[in-house]
Amino acid sequence: MPQKRQQIQPQSTDSLREARPGAAVSAGDAVPGATQRIVEAITTAIVERRLMPGTKLAEQKIADIFEVSRTLVRQALNQLSRDHLVTLEPARGAFVATPSIEEARQVFQVRLMLESAMLRQLCACITEPQIASLRAHLQQEREAVARVDVPGRTRLLADFHMVLARMLGNEVLADLLTDLLSRSSLISLMYQSSHSAQHSQDDHVRLVDALEKRDARAAVRLMEQHIASVERNLRLDPKSPDLADVLRPLN
Ligand SMILES: [Zn+2]
Repeated sequence: MPQKRQQIQPQSTDSLREARPGAAVSAGDAVPGATQRIVEAITTAIVERRLMPGTKLAEQKIADIFEVSRTLVRQALNQLSRDHLVTLEPARGAFVATPSIEEARQVFQVRLMLESAMLRQLCACITEPQIASLRAHLQQEREAVARVDVPGRTRLLADFHMVLARMLGNEVLADLLTDLLSRSSLISLMYQSSHSAQHSQDDHVRLVDALEKRDARAAVRLMEQHIASVERNLRLDPKSPDLADVLRPLN
């Protein structure tokens, strides 16, 4: 059904909507509402590196693109602000957040604490079917990396960490990690000198190997190295192009 509306204004809708197909298949149990659609499109555009930190998110422009009211756009921006992906400034409006280097370090530190503990627990309880589903996930990652599907691989590489969290059946942990992973994407977008998708993929394979051997020590060490290597690549070099550039039709 949204397919039809997309055709009406392909020029203004392309950039944000392109991010959606296949992206958050596992996320929604129902068809997401307009607010959720906007949240997902902006989140994905950030992850996909088309919406840079500091970019102004003009309410009216977004309302026009999605053919919805400004109230719905405001709701979406509020949610993104709670997720720390957007900053709301009184009288100035909404901007893609620009996390500081210090905030970036803190996010990765917390991830390290949580994910090390998570792996230790997982090594004690992971089942064969869970290993098999991790292998299936790795296969998808590999394919996305091979066909240079940037949004797909970025999402899958982040999802890997979510899959691990969900295997423990701890929703609080899964929620915390979802938040931290989105913030990590924004931070990587802002500070990462080069995105080493292949490198991350290799790390994930080694992690699953360690889990399969129930080798907690190795798994934790690999996770530490994995997160540290992402953090090591951070540098202070924020980029902030104009929203119009991002939304300009590609054709
Ligand atoms: Zn990873």
